[in-house]
Amino acid sequence: MRASFEKIEGAKSLPFDVQPAAEPTPATVRAEKLANPGFGRVFTDHMAMVSYNQAEGWHGARVAARASFPLDPATAVLHYAQEIFEGLKAYKRDDGGVNLFRPDANARRFRNSAERMAMAPLPETVFIEAIEQLVRIDQDWIPGGEGSLYLRPFMIANEVFLGVKPSAAYIFAVIASPVGSYFKGGPAPISIWVSEDYTRAAVGGTGAVKCGGNYAASLRAQAEAIDRGCDQVVFLDAIERRYVEELGGMNVFFVFDDGSLSTPPLGTILPGITRDSIITLARDSGTPVREEPYTIDQWRSDAASGKLREAFACGTAAVISPIGKVCSAHGDFTINGGAAGPVAMGFRKKLVDIQYGRATDPHRWTRKVL
Ligand SMILES: *Cc1c(COP(=O)(O)O)cnc(C)c1O
Repeated sequence: MRASFEKIEGAKSLPFDVQPAAEPTPATVRAEKLANPGFGRVFTDHMAMVSYNQAEGWHGARVAARASFPLDPATAVLHYAQEIFEGLKAYKRDDGGVNLFRPDANARRFRNSAERMAMAPLPETVFIEAIEQLVRIDQDWIPGGEGSLYLRPFMIANEVFLGVKPSAAYIFAVIASPVGSYFKGGPAPISIWVSEDYTRAAVGGTGAVKCGGNYAASLRAQAEAIDRGCDQVVFLDAIERRYVEELGGMNVFFVFDDGSLSTPPLGTILPGITRDSIITLARDSGTPVREEPYTIDQWRSDAASGKLREAFACGTAAVISPIGKVCSAHGDFTINGGAAGPVAMGFRKKLVDIQYGRATDPHRWTRKVL
């Protein structure tokens, strides 16, 4: 596999051809859209793109008006699902500048995802350059206040061939979507449904990879959670069906009465950058964090005894969502009386303050784009 993608190693950086949209959204229309963007339905005027084929390696880096892809019906991604993505945000600082948060970590994870899915790994410098180019040209689309510009880098296999093998051609692209504050007036605690019929990932599978296929496989369980009146699904391990893994798109933390934290270990879960940041911030302040397996039965009994003080989910989109209630076929239980706890809210504030450039950034996580 590696040999067939060797050409990319020569292309650590690529010049981007920037072609501004001929008919960008008028400022008044943009202002209307930014007033209440919701999540993932409003898009900026441009996209960044880079192409890969075996003869040229990564080439054709460009920023242009956002447009549809022409796709042959036999395009590989439509059949065998070689698709990976990332999610990160651009934040407007009080001084009017713009921050990215740990884009190098997204670039590295994207490369790891490509390797697991037998796709051409994109040089990390090209990944970051594409994002920065798009943020610069679409900077007027970044909401102020607690809003942000959600960036969605992704890669698809676009060789036209029905044979089952790694595609010989890929498209990498970045699109951007302004998002409002996820929660107006502080995050509302979420309720989660424990999926006992469906699992998300097995050892040796793709659980640690940000690929669309993982989401396709999770949607049935998520729909079941909604049917049960819950906000989100939480998955258990695929072998013993006891150990808590993560939600459909967020990692999970537990807060104990001795002040310590625990979170499920890496392996079959997605290695969240928010998860990693919380572990780092906690350890910085002397809070012990264990990355260790935790069973659903233990969770239930620790919640009942009061040993467990809080639980929360975390990810780029919502930052931190306190978990107020857990529902399962074996009965429901609440955590912290169903309310948001101080530890979850404290980490949320610490992270958000760093992201928006309001707090010192000891690990140099933010990157100024503007
Ligand atoms: C993206 C994602 C997360 C959160 O990762 P962040 O880097 O913190 O945004 C957690 N779980 C799954 C399944 C994901 O796809």
